[in-house]
Amino acid sequence: MQCDDVVLHLAQAPDEESNDYLPLPVRHHLVTCLSCQAERVQYRRLHRELRGMRLEVIEPDERLLPDILDSVRPSATVTQLRPSRRKAYVSGIAAAATAGAAGALVLVSKLSAKGQRLAG
Ligand SMILES: [Zn+2]
Repeated sequence: MQCDDVVLHLAQAPDEESNDYLPLPVRHHLVTCLSCQAERVQYRRLHRELRGMRLEVIEPDERLLPDILDSVRPSATVTQLRPSRRKAYVSGIAAAATAGAAGALVLVSKLSAKGQRLAG
């Protein structure tokens, strides 16, 4: 059995104190190979540290969320309007405002006419 094959088994259950969960050829290799024994110690240490981090609560910096959103959002593009379109937009806005004002005048005049009829 080669060390590369043994390492795959060591990563599966690093917390086990006994080697009973390992296949027999792997156990035999572990008894004689210092490299694989050291690898097993490293897996146990890593697993212990990862387990300790499970309960650790880390408060994120208050700028973290805005920074992430800024990096995810597409950047805004500014498009300059050509003068002819600018005139068309301004004319459209002016026409809409005029129509709104005219509608308000009609509504007010109808309401006041209705009020005079009720009063008189
Ligand atoms: Zn080995």
